[in-house]
Amino acid sequence: MKKCNKKIIPINNIKILSLIKKYKSPLWMYSSETIKKQILKLKKFDIIRFAQKSCSNIHILKLMKRYGTKIDAVSLGEIERALKAGFKKNSNDIVYTSDIIEKNTLKKVIKYNIPINIGSIDMIKKIGKKSKNHKIWIRINPRFGHGHDKKTNTGGKNSKHGIWNTKLALKLIKKYNLNLIGLHMHIGSGVDYTHLKKVCNAMIQEAKKINLQLSYISAGGGLTIPYKKKDKKINIHDYYEIWNKARKKISKNLKCPIKLEIEPGRFLVAESGYLISTIESIKKVKNRIFILVNVGFNELIRPTLYGSYHYISILPQDNRKLNYSKMIDVIIGGPLCESGDIFTQKKNNKIYTIKIPKVKCGDFLIFHDVGAYGASMSSNYNSRPLIPEILIKKNKIIQIRRRQTIQEMLSLEI
Ligand SMILES: *Cc1c(COP(=O)(O)O)cnc(C)c1O
Repeated sequence: MKKCNKKIIPINNIKILSLIKKYKSPLWMYSSETIKKQILKLKKFDIIRFAQKSCSNIHILKLMKRYGTKIDAVSLGEIERALKAGFKKNSNDIVYTSDIIEKNTLKKVIKYNIPINIGSIDMIKKIGKKSKNHKIWIRINPRFGHGHDKKTNTGGKNSKHGIWNTKLALKLIKKYNLNLIGLHMHIGSGVDYTHLKKVCNAMIQEAKKINLQLSYISAGGGLTIPYKKKDKKINIHDYYEIWNKARKKISKNLKCPIKLEIEPGRFLVAESGYLISTIESIKKVKNRIFILVNVGFNELIRPTLYGSYHYISILPQDNRKLNYSKMIDVIIGGPLCESGDIFTQKKNNKIYTIKIPKVKCGDFLIFHDVGAYGASMSSNYNSRPLIPEILIKKNKIIQIRRRQTIQEMLSLEI
């Protein structure tokens, strides 16, 4: 059982209440200061490339640009988002990473002259036939994996990601005269230092085999954040040093300078995000209490999909004092017609209770650390419109996405 106590939010309760009054619950809220702080932690890396799929709002991308990061795009939609946010074509600003490339994406990637991080042999053939000398990376499957969940494990024989047969890839790269500029490995989300050394060694070995003058290596993403109080923070210094050693070795082996990239998603945005919801029903079911709020897994799918934990806090509607010495055990659920619409569930879908102070309908329930894979994974399931996103910039409050209307949602079909 997890205890619900106070965790700091970048703005005070009164301000959140006035924000809710203005923009209405439910809503997403982000703190730009937290994002800035996280970026600064990685400043030793030559290039920080934000994996935008974790939080793809154009205004978040603009912030990233202002703070000096480059951007990873995994679809044509994400490329267009990046361009809208001010990242440049004909440059190293955007890299397209995928295991496939569809016709329309291929056309645009060539037109915009955007480097491609290649994850399959078929992609090499497609780009090779259409765009000689195109700048490419290869994403290597090091033939082993890791990750916080089976569904986010991105290496080994059960992974669809990356290139298994680098020898064949190299042959084709030469055949088509493609310009190989970098090697990339992204091995699931989570950091374990012994495992990391294995990844770095694999990178060194692959670079040796390829034996071409490269410009970059990328450590991929996967840096975690402490979702639970007992979760350890990662030691960025150690993480960097392990990779930096690999970089130096590769640079020596290939006799050329190598820049070290990192490609975080979660690490930069997770802690900046909050999902504010309203308690709509306090429901007794036999001896259990279900707290039902006005957001479901159509907004935040991580608990349902991965059994992810999110810290939850309560904001009373009238700013009255809550009694934290008298807690109740509750299950938190959403409005969806779907039994899996429960926020307090584990990986095996087992439901658990958390302790919260006594609440009333109309009080606000806040999910913490939802900046990554929150809004960007949300959907219209149960025909619920997308909810607003609000950015807190020091003392400024900016709406960066308005609420979708039901008419807008239906318009595609009318
Ligand atoms: C998803 C993804 C990332 C970001 O992963 P995080 O765990 O959010 O850091 C980085 N690189 C690639 C290729 C990805 O697919």
